[in-house]
Amino acid sequence: MGGLVGALGSSAATALAIHEDGGTSATSLADVVGSIARKQLAPLAGAIDEGTVYPEEVLRRLGEAGAWGSHVPQDGPADLRCAIEAMAAIGEVCGATAFMAWCQNTLVWYVANSTNLKLARRFGDSFAAGRLLGGTGLSNPMKSFFGIEKLKLKGRKVDGGYVVRGALPWVSNLGPDHFFGTIFEREDAPGETVMFLADCADPAITLQPCKPFLAMDGTGTYGVQFRDVFVPDELILAEQAAPFVKKIRAGFILLQAGMALGLIKDCIDVMDQVGSPLGHINRYLPQQPVQFKELFSELERETMALARDPLNPDETYWRRVIALRLRAGDASVAAAHAAMLHCGARGYLKSHRAQRRLREAYFVAIVTPATKQLRKMLADA
Ligand SMILES: Cc1cc2nc3c(=O)[nH]c(=O)nc-3n(C[C@H](O)[C@H](O)[C@H](O)COP(=O)(O)OP(=O)(O)OC[C@H]3O[C@@H](n4cnc5c(N)ncnc54)[C@H](O)[C@@H]3O)c2cc1C
Repeated sequence: MGGLVGALGSSAATALAIHEDGGTSATSLADVVGSIARKQLAPLAGAIDEGTVYPEEVLRRLGEAGAWGSHVPQDGPADLRCAIEAMAAIGEVCGATAFMAWCQNTLVWYVANSTNLKLARRFGDSFAAGRLLGGTGLSNPMKSFFGIEKLKLKGRKVDGGYVVRGALPWVSNLGPDHFFGTIFEREDAPGETVMFLADCADPAITLQPCKPFLAMDGTGTYGVQFRDVFVPDELILAEQAAPFVKKIRAGFILLQAGMALGLIKDCIDVMDQVGSPLGHINRYLPQQPVQFKELFSELERETMALARDPLNPDETYWRRVIALRLRAGDASVAAAHAAMLHCGARGYLKSHRAQRRLREAYFVAIVTPATKQLRKMLADA
């Protein structure tokens, strides 16, 4: 395969591959993305993990191939299945990049659901094609809407927009010309919340490097300070953030399944790889690859069933989404833990991906909505 010509739209979820002889063929988006991940991302995975590389070029390349656009509704209802499959293909190779894929896909999801048509026209295609990159600062609002903490950003109405101040401790997939969606509370209208796009190029927005993490250091994660930032009406995603979040929340959570599925699949592969030299002793371990294969299939089935209907307003549907997300985090940690035990000393080497997978797996379990929040949500539902 010599090159790719973008995505062919959401429901098609196919990309056009151009062969050496100039011929073309339709192939699944996940296959195309998987090929880019194996060829261009795999050599960078170690450096991304160490935090010396932020894979901007690969993210743009994946965007060109259609990885960030398949879930934008074109001429039918929204469908997240191909976006999740593509993220899983990335996650098989690098958990940090699968997380950045989630950040970008979530940003695209916000714009696709916004009723601010001017904003959608200006940013929709650029985000979906990866010409503009960015993410989401919704951890704090997601915790706030579920009664865990207070909103960290405050804003007030002024002529033509709002003025926003405050700070978010961590926002990923950022850089000097990136954008992200987040929410402030109105100081001039108590109880009102507004969702907007933050432009990292704004001089009143500062990106502060974070202290090193256990993993995810190559994800372009920064603390973000807003010093009386003017947010024009053109950057407002939703004047009423609460109903907007209710609409996009299932998609926000379901897309995270891509990170988990890719990681679990690779952990199974790690266990299989040591089956030949160590199977005679590994068979005494309580958890075997065959069990994780069953678990993977079950999680994949439920993910795909839910992902075809991400705007479903039913409470039972929402409960299934939360329950799936909780299981995906638990299963990620369990699979990575089992991969470590199956590998033994080989996996304890810094150069082996088993230990990277374990560190990445904990992130799946702690990124918002974290395991503890999901358990609270289920208890409250
Ligand atoms: C590598 C990384 C990338 C992330 N990327 C994003 C992102 O792109 N967008 C996004 O919205 N969120 C991001 N987060 C936040 C993440 O989604 C979770 O909110 C976070 O891991 C904590 O979730 P929790 O529910 O366990 O809260 P807890 O750990 O229980 O924390 C509750 C609150 O305590 C405070 N707190 C705890 N530790 C610190 C600290 N060291 N410094 C400052 N405040 C602290 C914060 O206010 C935090 O919200 C990122 C976190 C990490 C570690």
